[in-house]
Amino acid sequence: MEIRVQPVAPDKRRPKPKDESKLIFGRVFSDHMFMMDFRAGAWQDARVVPYQILGLDPAAMVLHYGQGIFEGLKGYRWPNGKIHLFRPEKNFERFKRSALRMCMPPVDVDFQFRAVEALLKIDRDWVPHSLGSSLYIRPTMIASEPHLGVRPAGEYLYYIITGPVAAYYAEGFNPVKIYVSDEYVRAVRGGVGEAKTMANYASSLYAAEMAKKKGFTQVLWLDGIERRFIEEVGTMNIFFRIKDELVTPPLTGSILPGVTRDSVIELARHWGITVTERPISIDEVIDAVKSGNMKEIFGTGTAAVISPVGEISFKDKNHTVGNGGVGEWSHRLYDEIVGIQYGEKEDPFGWIYPVKV
Ligand SMILES: *Cc1c(COP(=O)(O)O)cnc(C)c1O
Repeated sequence: MEIRVQPVAPDKRRPKPKDESKLIFGRVFSDHMFMMDFRAGAWQDARVVPYQILGLDPAAMVLHYGQGIFEGLKGYRWPNGKIHLFRPEKNFERFKRSALRMCMPPVDVDFQFRAVEALLKIDRDWVPHSLGSSLYIRPTMIASEPHLGVRPAGEYLYYIITGPVAAYYAEGFNPVKIYVSDEYVRAVRGGVGEAKTMANYASSLYAAEMAKKKGFTQVLWLDGIERRFIEEVGTMNIFFRIKDELVTPPLTGSILPGVTRDSVIELARHWGITVTERPISIDEVIDAVKSGNMKEIFGTGTAAVISPVGEISFKDKNHTVGNGGVGEWSHRLYDEIVGIQYGEKEDPFGWIYPVKV
């Protein structure tokens, strides 16, 4: 399929951010967006157009029944000026799986590459230059058919928007305080937890707000059945360093299979660290924290890469993890992954994709 390009008029271009370090995540968007429609059983009219308000019927099915999915990845500018992506095929494959889970039409992985590249070609100047900053890329698909009967929609809109984001740790690599929710859950086995679909984020807000009111940054989610086994932290996957082993919950359907999670597992194993994917209960976590066997806890995700946990609150008791600071492995994993993303370290795994622009 051809990708039509309609550039923004020179006088309609958006102002570029003056101070890249002051960017608030998700507030500034580039000049263009990619769009295409699914109609009559096929994707059509692929186009790069000026960033714009969507025309959506108020009966559009996504607005009522939540058929919507998204992805999140970043473009990194290397010191040589070239733009690189980190394991983008993983995001594009996950987007396809999310689509199938939500009864939405998949988008071919190769075509997603072409779409992102067509967009980055015209908006390459929007990829920021300062170290640690990047261009956030948000592919999205929504059910656009106007219809109020409950069934999979017959029409969809796929689009990609991008925007520059500041380095996540502008004020230093700081540990977060997390709150264990033993009342609310994010997802259940058999549900949609493993899909990057809108409903998971809507259902997480209430507990997240409660945690914030109590002074915590993130919610630690337990499983939806026994409310005993660890699942994720906020919108990140989670790792525990117990003595010299790395433990993370297995992907059993209610957990989002993170690209960063996969990269941490691969990298740690490459370093000779034992990584175990197994169910881990909150009682085991708290006992290990108390006994001192829990050396580190950290979350993983595209935004932060590694988010160290300094404090954990369970049943109104606060526990300090390790010495409350950033653990040795958290630091090492962060430095290595960020180093690979910005071309400062070697990439023995072939994780880097140079954008053809
Ligand atoms: C996106 C996301 C993650 C992290 O995935 P990455 O591919 O590493 O960015 C983890 N958990 C949830 C719920 C997410 O939405």
